[in-house]
Amino acid sequence: MPLISCFDPWQSGLCTCPKKLTLNPYTGCDHRCVYCYASSYIVGFSECKPKKDLLERLRLEAPKLVGEVISLSNSSDPYPKTEQYTGLTRRCLEILVEHNCRIQIITKSNLVVRDDDLLTQVPSTVAFTIATDNDQLAKILEPNAPLPSQRLSAAKDLIKQGIPVLVRIDPIIPFVNDQQQRLIKTLADIGVKHITSSTYKVKPDNWQRLSTALPTVVEKLERLYFKEGERVGGNVLLPRDLRLMILKNVRDLADAEGLKFGCCREGLERLNTATCDGSWLLSKAGGEGGSV
Ligand code: SF4
Repeated sequence: MPLISCFDPWQSGLCTCPKKLTLNPYTGCDHRCVYCYASSYIVGFSECKPKKDLLERLRLEAPKLVGEVISLSNSSDPYPKTEQYTGLTRRCLEILVEHNCRIQIITKSNLVVRDDDLLTQVPSTVAFTIATDNDQLAKILEPNAPLPSQRLSAAKDLIKQGIPVLVRIDPIIPFVNDQQQRLIKTLADIGVKHITSSTYKVKPDNWQRLSTALPTVVEKLERLYFKEGERVGGNVLLPRDLRLMILKNVRDLADAEGLKFGCCREGLERLNTATCDGSWLLSKAGGEGGSV
């Protein structure tokens, strides 16, 4: 099985991402987010392990990847805690840069700043997922991940280096983090160019974790999801009108601050003002070796 594959998350009919490839240096992720979707596919997901023969396989596949857009990572964070000791994601980036790939990083970790010297050599973007700017709430939602304040500080550093940054306000959970005006203002002030957003989608295992972590809103969420919501694939979504209201509000706030907007797997792409994954920013990115 190739290490790098076409990005096609869960063959979701709702995905509107442009064509790209994906690389996950690790299987599993140690950030332990209560709302994680990927944990339902892999047993022992929170025990993060490097992919078998990762670097050898990447060196073999890399000559076919020249100029391709490679997204790291879509099923797990490329900067789990263990990355600071293994440096494996950095070694992957070295190989991808050597082959002139265009790189999209998606992470919740400020450790990505370590690799800014590589990311400035080719067209690259960094997407930080920041569901809330409240560090205390983030400790409940994402107990083992770096704090949002650390991610915002890392975003500022990368922007100073000329690396375009987008932010995924994802997932939005009603009654928990659906008021995003302050965060969006902060993002605009530090020079973030794009917001991608999405509402929380229930899967049996993430619901178990989330309802334990947020007991005061369980009853209200149960009504919205299980009585009024809609089933799409293996997920339960909020009612469509409510999703539209929440995401339109984020889009309008982004508009007001001059940021582009895309929503992720909602069936509401009419709200988008740019490619949903922020890949339009690759054409704005610096880098000497890229083909854009
Ligand atoms: S960072 Fe992403 S992959 Fe890792 S636990 Fe959180 S939601 Fe799951």
